[in-house]
Amino acid sequence: MALFRIVTLGDPVLREKAKPVEKVNAAVRRLLDDMAETMYDARGIGLAAPQVGVTKRVIVVDAGQGLYQLINPEIIEAQGTETDREGCLSIPGVWGEVSRAVQVTVRALNREGETVEVEAEGLFARALQHEIDHLDGILFIDRALKIIRGGG
Ligand code: ZN
Repeated sequence: MALFRIVTLGDPVLREKAKPVEKVNAAVRRLLDDMAETMYDARGIGLAAPQVGVTKRVIVVDAGQGLYQLINPEIIEAQGTETDREGCLSIPGVWGEVSRAVQVTVRALNREGETVEVEAEGLFARALQHEIDHLDGILFIDRALKIIRGGG
């Protein structure tokens, strides 16, 4: 496994629309594993492939429920709204108040290429929405009601 360099705001790759993965193969599984290692190393709770310069629809999330490695994820159901503070590994030192659905159901492929549905709420749901936004070139600062800059 290897660590990726996380790209930061200003890199055009963050604004690209990522392409669906057509075949879940060893290269995709390696991408998922390297992304997970990079996310844990950076102490993040989610990472999307464009953040490591790869324009594929792949995300990893661990918001306390264990590691989810999802391919071609789509939100198929969303309920409620909640505003909370959010940050991004690609935008260090900046936080924002962002309104998100409280509960979501995400359909995706897992690392075996099987279709799975993930039900999430709270921070886990927020992380999934944040990472799926990345796949469409959307950053939390685009949605933030209020931006907060601070150290660390
Ligand atoms: Zn992010």
